[in-house]
Amino acid sequence: MNTSMATHEVLNQVAPLAGHNVYAGDLALRDALKFHAPDADEAPRVALGAMLGTEAMQTHARLANVNKPELHTHDRFGHRTDSVEFHPSYHALLGAAVGAGLHATPWSRGEGAHIERAAGFLMFTQLEPSVLCPISMTYAVTPALRGNAALMADWFDKLASTRYDGRLVFVQAKSGVTMGMGMTEKQGGSDVRANTTRAEFVEENGWGRCYRLIGHKWFFSAPMSDAFLVLAQTPAGLGCFFLPRVLPDGSLNAIAIQRLKDKLGNHANASSEVEFNGALAWLVGEEGRGIAQILEMGTLTRLDCALGTAGLMRGAVALALHHASRRNAFGKPLAEQPLMQNVLADLAIESEAATALAMRLARAVDKQDDAFESLMRRVLTPVAKFWICKRGSALAQEAMECLGGNGYVEERGEGVMARIYREMPLNSIWEGAGNIMALDLLRALRKRDGRNADAVSALEAEFATARGANASLDRFCDALLARFADAADGGGDEAGARRLAQDVALAVQGTLLQRHSAASVFDAFCLSRLSGNGPQVFGTLPSGVDFKAIMQRADPHRSAH
Ligand SMILES: Cc1cc2nc3c(=O)[nH]c(=O)nc-3n(C[C@H](O)[C@H](O)[C@H](O)COP(=O)(O)OP(=O)(O)OC[C@H]3O[C@@H](n4cnc5c(N)ncnc54)[C@H](O)[C@@H]3O)c2cc1C
Repeated sequence: MNTSMATHEVLNQVAPLAGHNVYAGDLALRDALKFHAPDADEAPRVALGAMLGTEAMQTHARLANVNKPELHTHDRFGHRTDSVEFHPSYHALLGAAVGAGLHATPWSRGEGAHIERAAGFLMFTQLEPSVLCPISMTYAVTPALRGNAALMADWFDKLASTRYDGRLVFVQAKSGVTMGMGMTEKQGGSDVRANTTRAEFVEENGWGRCYRLIGHKWFFSAPMSDAFLVLAQTPAGLGCFFLPRVLPDGSLNAIAIQRLKDKLGNHANASSEVEFNGALAWLVGEEGRGIAQILEMGTLTRLDCALGTAGLMRGAVALALHHASRRNAFGKPLAEQPLMQNVLADLAIESEAATALAMRLARAVDKQDDAFESLMRRVLTPVAKFWICKRGSALAQEAMECLGGNGYVEERGEGVMARIYREMPLNSIWEGAGNIMALDLLRALRKRDGRNADAVSALEAEFATARGANASLDRFCDALLARFADAADGGGDEAGARRLAQDVALAVQGTLLQRHSAASVFDAFCLSRLSGNGPQVFGTLPSGVDFKAIMQRADPHRSAH
């Protein structure tokens, strides 16, 4: 690169972060994975981490974002086509994510598969988060198909396949398929009971009870997916329906894509508005049981919101550390300025705490048949989704500031930090926005009739694993357990639900950091988050914290060995 210009030398500009191993450099993730899946072979993640850090993949991420998907409703002769055209880089990225088995593959494997997949998802999001929307939906809807054995038989192998096949043809002709979900309508997203799309029974055939759908969906992401699970009203209440894009006779189903959303971020992904004018769909489960099905899928997409945000946070911290250790100001690298060290160390602590909580939830999802883990899954899903996603935007803003003005500039998609910042609020909004998550925590804390093993005692058992290690953590957990009494009795203060969700998250994060992080991170977390008024603006760690040790632990340039 020529640094000599007619008027000046280009000096002190930091080269992009590239060629690093996204997995090897992430000790927080590696330690969390070792803790939850001690027998997992690191080799697949080392290989994935190397691929995700390459310039070639970064170029795909840039191009897929700069060249947004385009909707073609009709061909030039006036026939409806309802197709979305993507840049080839989008397909390259989606192919890489499918190839890594981040979609439905874990459902074809045994215990541990979901934890390993969670690590891969957290890593991939650092390269490009928006292609992970269809990946995540495919992961979430696949187990629900068990509610229709005929569909499961025809679709499961293709859903779990690691071969990406973007062609719009019937499932039998494809080597791999993806799926989406459609719940949100114009009149209500959080309250899906307000759905007006109706399902009219047509006939019983090879895939079971077939219906005709009439209505719309206001948000319908990844509309080029091969099939969708959608909610529609039946005489018995909401039902969950399987809606393929291509029908068994090879014709296109009546899904009219009206428009693509013009979004703040998430540019590589297409999110559409659709109308169903007699589209054919097959019942999954029972009429009237749609909400229960959706809640089950929501657990999995919410896990991915937590993992995805933890990944974005890690990506932002890696960029900030990379930049600050190479950029000089006032005579030395930014990373050697004491106040910048305070900011960077604080960001690294938050990022590691997010990774720890998201991976803990992944373990609860992985151990499907364990009663304790099932309670933890119930209570940690809203907590992790709420807290990690809330902290994500704040962290991205501060990490961006570490890069100064360059952080705010995109320049044809090259400014990755700005892309991360625009993406951050999305995981907080979709799949249940912040308030919905906090209110869901109140529901999760209610004691179930006749059962002692409730969510409160599960949390108490979780906190006990770190008891005695730090007086602030002990005090924080004790105070929290005392506050649970109301919620457990079926009450709980709705207006205070966010504070409760925040404090449960902090207590679990503190507990996890004691179990599998470095002492420097754990001590600083307890001192800064559990001893005073809770999280403050970043860069306010008290004196005595070992900034350098925390920054070194988060250094993205660490190698695999
Ligand atoms: C880019 C993008 C892609 C999307 N893709 C899809 C998709 O593929 N499929 C799909 O089904 N949906 C999709 N969504 C929709 C998303 O899931 C909804 O926007 C979300 O669930 C919120 O619903 P809503 O927009 O109707 O807001 P509302 O339900 O109106 O909520 C607005 C606000 O009110 C709060 N609120 C609601 N009820 C209460 C209460 N009782 N007490 C306190 N606060 C409350 C919520 O927390 C939220 O902050 C997508 C959204 C976006 C932005």
